[in-house]
Amino acid sequence: MDIFDINDLPFPQSLPEFQRLFPDEIACAGYLERARWIGGFMCPACQEIGEPFRISTRPGVLVCRKCRHEEGLTVGTVMERSHTPLSTWFWAAYLVATQTPGISAVQFQRQLRLRRYETAFGILHKLRAGMVRPDQDRIGGPPANHVEVDEVLIGGKTRGEGRGVHHKTLVTAAVEVRRREPGTAQDKRKDGRYAGRVRLAVAPDRSADSLCGFVQSAVMPGTLIVSDDWSGYGNLRKLGYDHHAIAECGDPEIAEEFMPMIHLVFSNLKTWLNGTHHGVSPKHLQAYLNEFTFRFNRRFHPFNAFRSLLGIAGGAETPTYAALYSSDWIHPTCSGCMS
Ligand SMILES: [Zn+2]
Repeated sequence: MDIFDINDLPFPQSLPEFQRLFPDEIACAGYLERARWIGGFMCPACQEIGEPFRISTRPGVLVCRKCRHEEGLTVGTVMERSHTPLSTWFWAAYLVATQTPGISAVQFQRQLRLRRYETAFGILHKLRAGMVRPDQDRIGGPPANHVEVDEVLIGGKTRGEGRGVHHKTLVTAAVEVRRREPGTAQDKRKDGRYAGRVRLAVAPDRSADSLCGFVQSAVMPGTLIVSDDWSGYGNLRKLGYDHHAIAECGDPEIAEEFMPMIHLVFSNLKTWLNGTHHGVSPKHLQAYLNEFTFRFNRRFHPFNAFRSLLGIAGGAETPTYAALYSSDWIHPTCSGCMS
């Protein structure tokens, strides 16, 4: 699932190491160059291979010796056309990739002494937009990895409007259940089960169209799906899934027994949304779900997270600050079909 499996680039394990590795713009530019051209620079205009000219005052630009084409190192990345120094982007990607709960725009602005809050906010949101690849694989597959599916209500308290779920947003989730190798140190916990990849999407309602539509967009056909016995999941067999519906899933003990991973995901998600971001408006919720998914799926691989943010993030369309507030920007959903 990870884009980079080459190990030729170092990854800092601590903040002092980070400072040694990325002391200035030239160091950051060098890292981008090596990440992009594993075997050395190749001119995108004339395909010439060989050491390019470098301009000391413009470390982000390489010039082809043959055709004089100027290639920007940030072209196609999330940093393209940004006036923010590369080192600021690197700090942001490193903090976002390595701090387990993530980082808020206020913390980020303060720690990097950025003059404007909007700069911090814009960088973090661009990185978040890059946290979902449009061609994302569907999860599930081999019969050993069954997938738990459920929904949860997020955010918004009801104020004086009677019982109900006003102002809450419905979120659907699917998570792979994996098993550790028998005999390894961790196979005793939770029966050796642990959560694999997760997918999360804002859903309009609990109808069969919404819930089965989410499953189709997020999970490979043929996968064994475990859900509660709500009728919204009733069509899954017809749609080509193996389906196991658990009755009495409202009972916490039964839910814990049969769907432990999805409840772990929901619990982590709520803690993260409330703790780090003090709640999130429905308008931006999908972006935060995307960030949570990115972190969760790479929680054992911060190196890949860091490189994805800097290198692969460029493949995604990124929002401008103005667009985020004008509602023009639609956050990518987990697979693009629930928006
Ligand atoms: Zn050239």
